[in-house]
Amino acid sequence: MMPKTKDDCIFCKIANGEIPSNSIYEDDNFNVILDLNPANKGHALIIPKVHYQDVYSMDDAFASKVYPLAAKVARVLKGAMHADGINILQNNEEPAGQTVFHFHVHVIPRYMDDDIDMTWTPLESNPDEQEILAKELRAQLMK
Ligand code: AMP
Ligand code: ZN
Repeated sequence: MMPKTKDDCIFCKIANGEIPSNSIYEDDNFNVILDLNPANKGHALIIPKVHYQDVYSMDDAFASKVYPLAAKVARVLKGAMHADGINILQNNEEPAGQTVFHFHVHVIPRYMDDDIDMTWTPLESNPDEQEILAKELRAQLMK
C-alpha cells in the first residue's frame, strides 16, 4: 500500500507546505528545509512528503531516492556554507534520538573545532565475540 500523509504529523504538514518553513529544495517526493533549532547554520532536514515513521517502514524504491538527494544537499551546503565537513544522519526511535516521528535526514555543516558533540567513547571489542556476532548477523542478512 502506498504510504500517505498522517493528519496529526507536523512534518507531513511542513513537507507539503501546509505549515510554512524555510524550504531550500522541493520535488515530487521531498521537501528540504532549514532546521528550526540548528546544530550549525545551514543544518537542513530532508523530509519525504509521504509519512514514513522511520527507516524500517520505508520501501526500497523510496529509500533509493534519499541518498542521492542527501549527497546533493551535502555538496551544496559544503560550498555555500564554506563547511569543513558534513554530517548526514538519521535517527530511528527515541533511544537513537528521534524526536519527530516522521522519517527525516539531517545534513549538518561542520567546522574545525565547532565543538558539536556527535561522538561516542569507543568500546574494546572481543575478537571471538565479534566473529560469533558477525556469523549470526550474516545468517539473517544473507538469507
Ligand atoms: P530528530 O531528533 O532526528 O527527530 O530531529 C528532529 C529535528 O527537527 C530537530 O533537529 C528539530 O530542531 C527539528 N524540528 C522540529 N520541529 C521543527 C519545525 N517546525 N521546523 C523545522 N525543524 C523542526
Ligand atoms: Zn508525517
